[in-house]
Amino acid sequence: MDPKDYALTAQNLLFHGVDFTTVEYMLERCSVRNLDASEKLLQPDIPNHHLYLILAGKLSVHLGEQETSEHASLIAGECAGEISIVDGKHPSALVVASEPTRVMSIPQDTVWSLVDHSHEVARNLLGIVAGRMRNDKNVLITTQNKKAQFEHQASVDALTGIHNRHWMGDAFPRVLHNCAFNNLPYAIMVADIDHFKRINDTYGHVVGDVALKAVARCMAENLRPHDLLVRYGGEEFAMLLPDTGLEEARAIAERLRATIADSEIRCNEISFRITISIGIAPARIEEKLEILIGEADRALYRAKELGRNRVEVSG
Ligand code: GH3
Ligand code: MG
Ligand code: MG
Repeated sequence: MDPKDYALTAQNLLFHGVDFTTVEYMLERCSVRNLDASEKLLQPDIPNHHLYLILAGKLSVHLGEQETSEHASLIAGECAGEISIVDGKHPSALVVASEPTRVMSIPQDTVWSLVDHSHEVARNLLGIVAGRMRNDKNVLITTQNKKAQFEHQASVDALTGIHNRHWMGDAFPRVLHNCAFNNLPYAIMVADIDHFKRINDTYGHVVGDVALKAVARCMAENLRPHDLLVRYGGEEFAMLLPDTGLEEARAIAERLRATIADSEIRCNEISFRITISIGIAPARIEEKLEILIGEADRALYRAKELGRNRVEVSG
């Protein structure tokens, strides 16, 4: 063996704490392999019978069979192929040289002879496999956290912090179905801020945004925990009140309308009041969400026509 390769092999994690002179005779069937950049070393569809110790260069690990985003990279002193050697199955990942790379290739039976011969080698191999599992788990946790974050961002309106229309498409039909199944009344309500364009025109968009947030917060605080509220459009909100009869829905809508009309919105030196109009569509068993929203919208339109700052029921 080339003295330089000999020294690099002895420094590999597999031989950490091992008196290399006691095992070197077992490496006579090992060979050095030079990989070009982009050359594949391990592929999930091709059986592997070697453990590869990286002497120089860098390997890139990809999950699955595609060279998609890099899962991990391996550098000199580390090794590759240990999972398939230990469990006797196909490689668990695609491993490709990210630059010209030199590896020491140890046949599978030699690996087991080394393990039989040296407790330290066995321990190191366990440590390498455990490190791989720990790293994979950390990647999995990060991925899950990111997924949860994306899901949250996809369902929550960034300005007001309440759910958005996308979430409504998921949540409302489920609750509607549940109400129909249990023969419970419900009401769909659509609320729209009155003359909101004037607020923007008079005070600017930043103040308009503050007003929008204040209205959303006021609505969220004045609904019951099981009521669903979403920002349906620019300055429009949709609500689903489960297990709620028409008169109760009307009372809730009236309370929302009055609370918002009575609240002062403050932003820096500016303070003003705004009003909302609300349209209500009461329960129709098995009715589709779009039909109910359409009905509530028509009632809202009537509330606008009749002077705004009021509640109207469809039909
Ligand atoms: P109406 O009483 O008939 O509802 O009158 P309106 O002025 O509220 O209705 P219109 O639909 O004409 O205007 C809605 C305005 O809401 C126009 C748009 O600029 C504003 N708007 C929509 N989304 C936002 C937002 O995220 N921030 C701010 N500041 N304004 C918004
Ligand atoms: Mg409006
Ligand atoms: Mg509007």
